[in-house]
Amino acid sequence: MKRIALFPGSFDPFTKGHEDIVLRGLHLFDEIIVGIGHNTAKKRYFPVEVMQRLIEETFEKYPQIHTVTYDDLTANMARQLGARFLLRGLRNTTDFEYENSISQVNRHVYSDVETVFLITSPHLAPISSTIIRELHKYGHNVDEFLPYKLSELTISA
Ligand code: ADP
Repeated sequence: MKRIALFPGSFDPFTKGHEDIVLRGLHLFDEIIVGIGHNTAKKRYFPVEVMQRLIEETFEKYPQIHTVTYDDLTANMARQLGARFLLRGLRNTTDFEYENSISQVNRHVYSDVETVFLITSPHLAPISSTIIRELHKYGHNVDEFLPYKLSELTISA
């Protein structure tokens, strides 16, 4: 049976920290689906279509990596995709506290799902989408934190 993992997140934006988790996950799973969770009622900073395209371009050399967007419970999305694993990254104890409860909830919704955590590579641990949005908002170039070049795009964010 194919080992399919869903890597869920807001990815607003997708960072080198996220890329690292996906690439390391390839050693564990046959297929990884990057799932951009997007509550249509909430406004994002980077448009979801733009982010999906940038993630697809980032992994274009990897046929076993796909990207989807969804507005649903992550566990429901995993079930629908046939993904029995959720892939998540852990940076610090704050991530752990949150991930601990969310993984219990996900198993409650979909009892066959198992969350697999990878500890962040130390040099990428300080990267967070929130900080990148803040830097970008005030005109700072954030390309060094991203696996693609945002500076070459015109985005109405
Ligand atoms: P969410 O919107 O669910 O908080 P994010 O889009 O911020 O999610 O991140 C998705 C996943 O990537 C989470 O498991 C998060 O812990 C992990 N992650 C975020 N930043 C990094 C990083 N710098 N290194 C490794 N993992 C990270």
